Amino acid sequence: MKTSIPCPSCQKPLTIEHFEDFPTPFHMKCPHCRANLKETKMTPLLLLIAAIVVPLLIFIGIRVKSFLSNNGSTKTYKNEKSY
Ligand SMILES: [Zn+2]
Repeated sequence: MKTSIPCPSCQKPLTIEHFEDFPTPFHMKCPHCRANLKETKMTPLLLLIAAIVVPLLIFIGIRVKSFLSNNGSTKTYKNEKSY
C-alpha cells in the first residue's frame, strides 16, 4: 500500500508517520529539508490520510462497539441468571 507522497520541495517521500509527528496539520515541515509545506500543496496527502484514517477509525469504532456490547450482554446474562 502506497502511503507516501514526494515532498514538493526535495522530492523525498513523506509518509503518514511523518504527519503523525506534526503538532498540528497546519504547521507542517518536511522532515528531510525543513521546507514549510503549504496546506494547499498537502491537500492530496491530507485526503490520502483521511481516506486511510477515517475507515480505520470507523473499523476500530465498530470493533470496540461490538466488544463492549458483547461484554455487556454477557454481564447482563450472568446477572439475570443469578437473580
Ligand atoms: Zn523536503
